[in-house]
Amino acid sequence: TLKGKTALVTGSTSGIGLGIARCLAAEGANILFNGFGDIKEIEALQAATAAEFGIQTAYHNADMSKAAEIEALMQFAEQKFGAVDVLVNNAGIQYVANIEDFPVEKWDAIIAINLTSAFHTTRLALPKMKARNWGRIINVASAHGLVASAQKSAYVAAKHGLVGFTKSTALETAQTGITCNAICPGWVLTPLVQKQVDDRAARENISNEAAKKALLAEKQPSGEFVTPEQLGGLAVFFCSAAADQVRGVAWNMDGGWVAQ
Ligand code: NAD
Repeated sequence: TLKGKTALVTGSTSGIGLGIARCLAAEGANILFNGFGDIKEIEALQAATAAEFGIQTAYHNADMSKAAEIEALMQFAEQKFGAVDVLVNNAGIQYVANIEDFPVEKWDAIIAINLTSAFHTTRLALPKMKARNWGRIINVASAHGLVASAQKSAYVAAKHGLVGFTKSTALETAQTGITCNAICPGWVLTPLVQKQVDDRAARENISNEAAKKALLAEKQPSGEFVTPEQLGGLAVFFCSAAADQVRGVAWNMDGGWVAQ
């Protein structure tokens, strides 16, 4: 149980982050939400999650591409809850283009949000975790942290980097009660992927359903999407005592993607 502990899940107003936050809340953790969206909807999400699981929630709107805003987020977490016990680095974006056409500002944004933000949250969370000798750092990487695809150079570079950073963090904390691991999802039907489904449906003049099938057929042998709840289940396992010696792994949950 995570009762009395606090989890910060970056990018938790949508998709996988929200799924993981709900699973941690179900274990009793207080949740600090972060991410973009309509403030009224986010307030409603906060209230509903608090009521459903009998926990405390808070929200901070830090833009994870900006170091100063991440510092403000971490200060807010300490003021509000004392410390971050479970840090889930999940915020991420995607952009699809050939390298020679890749907009430089998209490259910079993907590296900042998908990789560098985890360095900032981790460096700011570690002192308190070390003082308490307990912590869980979970980096949401991707199957693209383990293998590549064409047209996703920035994303693949950032996610491979995040897997490497996970291992370094695990080594620096190896003799403490803090663990750091990565989760590597395959296709999950979130807004991030729906955009790629829409692009494909438009490009190939096929239906939404056909575009989803085509996307899965290319990479994911199960032919089924992974769900945010399934990923949340893995995050809960990483937080459990059974996972005390699981350190520095990059665990794919991908319908067989990287087994090929
Ligand atoms: P999503 O678009 O549904 O959610 C992304 C979340 O990040 C949102 O809450 C959004 O507001 C937030 N966010 C985006 N930019 C931000 C910024 N600059 N600052 C703060 N928050 C920001 O996407 P998702 O599919 O749930 O993706 C979550 C993570 O999972 C990402 O790191 C993504 O790379 C990874 N992932 C997704 C898939 C998939 O198939 N969907 C597969 C592997 C990995």
